[in-house]
Amino acid sequence: MSDKVEAVKKLFTSKSSRVETNKGDTYYQELFAKCEARLNEMRSNTPANKLDFTELLEENGIDRREFMKWASATTAMLMLPPMFTPLVADAAVMMNRAPVIWLELQDCAGNSEALLRADGPKIDEIVLDIISLEFHETLQAASGFQAEKQLEEAMEHFKGKYLLFVEGSIPMGMDGQYGTIGAAGETFHDHLVRCAENAAAVVAVGACATFGGIPAAAPNPTGAVGVMDVVKNKPLINIPACPANPANMVGVILHYVLTGQVPELDSLLRPKFAFGYRIHDNCERRAHFDAGEYVEEWGDVGAQNNFCLYKMGCKGPMTFNNCSIVRYNEAVNWPIGVGRGCIGCSEPDFWDKYAYERPMADAKIKAPTGGVEKTVDEFGLGMLTAAGIGIAIHAAASTVAGKRENSGENHE
Ligand code: SF4
Ligand code: SF4
Repeated sequence: MSDKVEAVKKLFTSKSSRVETNKGDTYYQELFAKCEARLNEMRSNTPANKLDFTELLEENGIDRREFMKWASATTAMLMLPPMFTPLVADAAVMMNRAPVIWLELQDCAGNSEALLRADGPKIDEIVLDIISLEFHETLQAASGFQAEKQLEEAMEHFKGKYLLFVEGSIPMGMDGQYGTIGAAGETFHDHLVRCAENAAAVVAVGACATFGGIPAAAPNPTGAVGVMDVVKNKPLINIPACPANPANMVGVILHYVLTGQVPELDSLLRPKFAFGYRIHDNCERRAHFDAGEYVEEWGDVGAQNNFCLYKMGCKGPMTFNNCSIVRYNEAVNWPIGVGRGCIGCSEPDFWDKYAYERPMADAKIKAPTGGVEKTVDEFGLGMLTAAGIGIAIHAAASTVAGKRENSGENHE
């Protein structure tokens, strides 16, 4: 695991230092002081549960050195300079002071599964284990009226302080009657609005809660929408993907514990620390793309040699997510690593727009790189030298990245 932590740290450190060069020392000194004050305030709060982070680390055979390596990598992931590492470590220990209420609406529970992760817990998992999960109707023992009472009590007790995590889309068709909850038949819409009212912030988790996901795919029979179409008056963070990566859930909660604020977001309300990177730019098969080496059909020589999956429909060139860096399942692997192209699950309307096993030109998708990928398909590889493709892609990508940074405009 240490090697993986080191690799993640190296990648994030190089990226965060590049992204944050416009923020000077004074900015970080002021932020550091604010974070210290925030943590002192958190320290005086009574933990909402009795789970002790340090004991859990020991029980799972994780020593202080390994924990500090994780804190260092997480600091880099959050785009903070190394001086924040001790504060991130302190924030992790105090995660049991961050009350979380979790709603499940129109969904498959895949994000709850990601939250649970039954296998040997590592540090990200332990952090998620100790957060004060005050209500989660699928995971908790209580049901029926008892569960409703638990939710009411949690919302009252932690009024204005809880993070409301929402999994699943909201069906708006038939006056919301496609999805109701509780004995009174409250619609998902009304339930969400009521629970969001006294939340400190709302976190939409997964493709469905962020942009409607598969329930919103054409013809969208239930009129499914994402949380941001319903909740308008609260700080809102989108953590898309199918499922959302637990590392990004940890990052958002840690950032909140540390600063009391939501992290810096892109125009789709996604945290920049997680969605500021394009899959294509951190892909282990990128050298093959630049060299014009593609898988042409499943099982061919290219597939056996881990060539680029672009011609098999990979949408990495237009998808922003950090799964190419943090990966899944304890960083063991990720879809492209096992030979499956990206289907853009962290982008709006991904099911209709991106989930084709066909190259982008066939799928009539305009690449944000100005259509260079389309040229590859239409003219064939013989017409374009590998260097030419690489230079054009990098130049176009830099222009797009520059535009995004300067104007904050949507890359879609
Ligand atoms: S097209 Fe897909 S597989 Fe090929 S380099 Fe880009 S992200 Fe990786
Ligand atoms: S590789 Fe693409 S489809 Fe797969 S998890 Fe990452 S963003 Fe989603």
